[in-house]
Amino acid sequence: MMAGYLLARAGVDVVVLEKHADFFRDFRGDTIHPSTLEVMHELGLLDEFLKLPHQELREIRGIFNGHPVPMADFSRLPTHCKFIAFMPQWDFLNFLAAHAKRFPAFELRLQHEVVDLLFENDRVVGVRAKTPDGERDIYADLVIGADGRNAVTHTRAKLELQEFGAPIDVLWMRLSKRASDPPQSLGFFQHGKLLVLLDRDDYFQVGFVIPKGGLDEIKQRGLPALQRDILELGPFLNDRISELDDWEKIKLLTVQINRLKKWCRDGLLCIGDNAHAMSPAGGVGINLALQDAVATANLLAAKLKQGPVSLADLERVQERREFPVRFIQALQVQIHKRINGRTSGTGDKLPLLPRLFLWFPFLRALPARMIGLGPRPEHVHSPAAG
Ligand SMILES: Cc1cc2nc3c(=O)[nH]c(=O)nc-3n(C[C@H](O)[C@H](O)[C@H](O)COP(=O)(O)OP(=O)(O)OC[C@H]3O[C@@H](n4cnc5c(N)ncnc54)[C@H](O)[C@@H]3O)c2cc1C
Repeated sequence: MMAGYLLARAGVDVVVLEKHADFFRDFRGDTIHPSTLEVMHELGLLDEFLKLPHQELREIRGIFNGHPVPMADFSRLPTHCKFIAFMPQWDFLNFLAAHAKRFPAFELRLQHEVVDLLFENDRVVGVRAKTPDGERDIYADLVIGADGRNAVTHTRAKLELQEFGAPIDVLWMRLSKRASDPPQSLGFFQHGKLLVLLDRDDYFQVGFVIPKGGLDEIKQRGLPALQRDILELGPFLNDRISELDDWEKIKLLTVQINRLKKWCRDGLLCIGDNAHAMSPAGGVGINLALQDAVATANLLAAKLKQGPVSLADLERVQERREFPVRFIQALQVQIHKRINGRTSGTGDKLPLLPRLFLWFPFLRALPARMIGLGPRPEHVHSPAAG
């Protein structure tokens, strides 16, 4: 949607295809990072955007074996917004779509599921989409595959995927919020286990990290055992844990870390999770996907206005974005070595790393920068058509 917005803003004819009928779904995460908010500022959309209901997280605190530790302080970031905005992704996408529709060059087609690529002389020239009116072929100078992990576009294009392995999956569920709840802490860490609470105003979106493939065993142990595991990390949820009374209320989100060796071939560019599926560790995947979109428009918008772009042009997007992605994925692999849903110790001692954040507050600037901006943050340089 962001790539579509930016290209249409530059006067490039764009059709965004979305397989669902709307955006009203539980996405993986709702975080809008300072770098994305900066992009919204550069586009002149920030003030209106911040009028949408959201929560602002200015500091990330983790609870490590019961000890609260401030881990990231966004107050010194060189951005207009020194916070992460929590907003349901459907609101964010609807906002972008509504603004994109003001450009004559933009079109959004819902219920259009891409099922295949169209080729001519080995060049991708469009997509085949399943629609309520049957299959349709849609031709384009460039197909941007932003269809997430398990993308049809990179599979059909036979782009090679490198898997880095993620030892975790996440159980995704909701619990109600109470006025008396402690200040938002986001993460509760305990000896390799992690409980994440995302504040969605009137309820918590709860993420509970489990060992990969461990759901069957958890189901065998039964719901009360899972409830106890969650309470061990977040005891204040005791008065509402019984809301998790049915496995139907608990979704399994699989975690992957992978990266395409080549993000493009003639006529096709893959960005976001399609090119590099991100783990939830650090909560930065949405941010990286958006940065890819900004870089894509910066590098390609003016050229696309003239017609098809070359493979070398597409490769420049990968050259620009691959370093930040590799860097963050390497960090995620390291985080998974410590947080993998398996108990790896006992006691209530504060581990060394969080202890360093307590001793040396200036260290909190580093995670703030990594999470809030990421390496090599992008700024909007693509043109705005008159
Ligand atoms: C459990 C979990 C929690 C996470 N939490 C966070 C977090 O808090 N913050 C964060 O920044 N990142 C988080 N991430 C990572 C984040 O979800 C991804 O990195 C991010 O969503 C990637 O965005 P994307 O636009 O590339 O792909 P997606 O968000 O997957 O969007 C792809 C879109 O394409 C559509 N689509 C798919 N296939 C087709 C098709 N064939 N035809 C048409 N449309 C199609 C989909 O419906 C969807 O709208 C989390 C990941 C996991 C696994």
